[in-house]
Amino acid sequence: MKTIGMLGGMSWESTASYYKVINEGVRDTLGGLHSARICMYSVDFEKIEKLQYQGDWKETAVILARGAKAIEAGGADFLLICTNTMHKVASEIEAAISIPLLHIADATGVELRKNTVKRVGLLGTRFTMQENFYKGRLTEKYGIEVIVPELVEQDSIHSVIYKELCLGKIRARSLQKFLDIIHSLRDKGAEAVILACTEIALLVQQKHTSVPLYDTTRIHAMAAVKKAIETKITVFPYL
Ligand code: GLU
Repeated sequence: MKTIGMLGGMSWESTASYYKVINEGVRDTLGGLHSARICMYSVDFEKIEKLQYQGDWKETAVILARGAKAIEAGGADFLLICTNTMHKVASEIEAAISIPLLHIADATGVELRKNTVKRVGLLGTRFTMQENFYKGRLTEKYGIEVIVPELVEQDSIHSVIYKELCLGKIRARSLQKFLDIIHSLRDKGAEAVILACTEIALLVQQKHTSVPLYDTTRIHAMAAVKKAIETKITVFPYL
């Protein structure tokens, strides 16, 4: 079994979900008392959030690259950045290490393609909804059209993420707000909705709506389980 590297703490509420899903995935696949080999580095999110707000992404990349190097030195075979938003600096982090990065948008793109979803709604932080590092990757690599909520709706999603979900506050009022937005994306033609923020599934789950939801935390964590326990394919020397 490979060792999974987790760059977490963004926020720790969702890193805890990753930890649980990964360990359950390994247990369910291998049975017995099997659990995942994990090397985790967890940052202080207060600092990261301040830098995001100031637009100092360069400094966030420096901090996260430092963490990624520590994870590599700790023996991880590949890396997960346990947040969608911080994939904005994925290439800087990737450049600092020699182990591969399992990109969250790739894990999601593969799932969507498997289910032949062509047009998808996306909920996430303002950065993920407005910028191209995530949406662009889904469109360019997987041919998926991504639609996002109206600007006022984006503001309210962003604020619930940072002021409630990252602090472990789950409120019925916010759930209703998210469901209204999900349904308006469906009315605009979304076949499914990506929960492209690793805390959203703490609030909204599939049981709340008939719109198919793609929870990036679970998808990313399960892609890591698959990569960690896949059997080695023997390549014959004459092939
Ligand atoms: N965990 C969130 C995400 O998946 C937001 C927190 C962050 O800014 O990293 O985007």
